[in-house]
Amino acid sequence: PQERKLKGFFQDITDRKQLEQELRQQAHFDYLTGLSNRGHFMELAELELSRTKRYAKPLSILMLDIDYFKRINDTYGHKTGDSVIKKMANVCKEILREIDIIGRIGGEEFAILLPETDLEQAVVAAERLRKILDDAKVPNEYGGLPIQFTVSIGVSSLTSNDANIAVLLNLADTALYEAKDYGRNRVCVIVPSSQFYRFRLYPLSTIAHFV
Ligand code: GH3
Ligand code: MG
Ligand code: MG
Repeated sequence: PQERKLKGFFQDITDRKQLEQELRQQAHFDYLTGLSNRGHFMELAELELSRTKRYAKPLSILMLDIDYFKRINDTYGHKTGDSVIKKMANVCKEILREIDIIGRIGGEEFAILLPETDLEQAVVAAERLRKILDDAKVPNEYGGLPIQFTVSIGVSSLTSNDANIAVLLNLADTALYEAKDYGRNRVCVIVPSSQFYRFRLYPLSTIAHFV
C-alpha cells in the first residue's frame, strides 16, 4: 500500500509536469501554426535585440500581411482561410534560417526577426518570400482550381542603438501599409532619414518617394 501511494505521488508529479509543459506551450505558441504568438515573439525578439546591440551586429524585421484575406474567407470559408494561414507559416519555416524568429502576431499577420541581417539582405529575403508565397497553392475543398494568395511585406532595420522591438515593428508596419497602398503583393522598405521616412518599393517600382 505504501508503494502504491508513492507511485501515485510520482504519477501526480509527472501529470503536473506534463500539464505545466502543455500550459507553457499554449502560452507561447499559436495553436493553428505552431509559431510563437505575439507575446513570445516580443520576448524572443527583445533578447535577440540586446545580443545584437552587445555585438554591434545588424538586425532587420519583416511584417507580413495576407492581401485581401477577407475575400478568401468570404469566398472559400473560414477553414480554407485557416489553411492559407498554415501554408504561409509553413513556407516561412521552410524558407527562413534556423536563427530567424517567426511570430504570428495577428490573425493573418506575421512578424519575422532576421538576426545579423542588414537592410539590403532583408529585402532579398523578403522578395524571395513574397515570390514563393505568390506561387504557393492551397487545395480547393470545392474541387475547383487551387487557391492562390499574395502577401505584402514591410521591412525595417535597426539604425540606432536605442531602438526597441516595438519601434522596429512600428516602422515595418508603416512600410507594410505603404506596400498595401501601392497595390499589394510587394515589399516596401522604410529608411528613416534626418526628418522624413523614405520608402522604397519592390519589385515593380524603384521610385523612392517621401512623406
Ligand atoms: P488587406 O489586403 O488590406 O490586408 O485586406 P484584408 O482583407 O486582408 O484585411 P484585413 O487584414 O483587415 O483582414 C484580416 C481578416 O482576417 C479579418 C479576419 O476575419 C480574418 N482572420 C483573422 N484571423 C483569422 C483566422 O485565424 N482564420 C481565418 N480564417 N481568418 C482570420
Ligand atoms: Mg491584417
Ligand atoms: Mg490582410
